[in-house]
Amino acid sequence: MPSPAAPAYLSIPDAAKPGQKGGTLVAEHVDGICEHRRLLESGDYRPSGCPLCGRFLHILDLRPRKLRDQPDSAEELICRYRCRPCGAVWQVLPGFLARHLHRTWGAVQSALVAAGTLEPTGSEWRVRRKPSTLRRFMARLGASAVVLMQALLAAKAPVEGVLEALGAWCTRGELVEGLAGAGQIEKKRKLQKFAGWIHRLAPGLRLM
Ligand SMILES: [Zn+2]
Repeated sequence: MPSPAAPAYLSIPDAAKPGQKGGTLVAEHVDGICEHRRLLESGDYRPSGCPLCGRFLHILDLRPRKLRDQPDSAEELICRYRCRPCGAVWQVLPGFLARHLHRTWGAVQSALVAAGTLEPTGSEWRVRRKPSTLRRFMARLGASAVVLMQALLAAKAPVEGVLEALGAWCTRGELVEGLAGAGQIEKKRKLQKFAGWIHRLAPGLRLM
């Protein structure tokens, strides 16, 4: 049975506003809030250079991000950098933050494991879920994974065996479980690690 087509916003990378350069960089190695705060304080989040022109990036501002369903934080600061010569603005997100979902990936995974959509890993916590939010999460993870599989194949990621076993009509959730089961992504952080991977291969392409 083919999965429903993914909604367009899942398949079309975010475009910067017209006339605005820059975008989002994901610091994939940042798994936790303590590490995030340490990097903010020490200034070690600064990319080595502007991704567009390679020149030095200056801190532009720190913007608060609300985190729902998080036991140890309700809000974290996100740093934006500006390249003065070319005008590009880059925000650097820690890998654990689910960019469009107002949560950490851990909180999203916890909700989807409790709903039976993902397999438990022992790293989840209890979250209070609004039924409408959960339905939205489940629908996104139940959408076709074809665009994500194309991104993996186009980047020559060594996942052909996994994709073949899953078949062309698998859902995004099945793809995550398949990759985690094959050891391609860390099981405990399967949503976070896959979302970071996909963003690296096709910036702006969303897992959910
Ligand atoms: Zn630049």
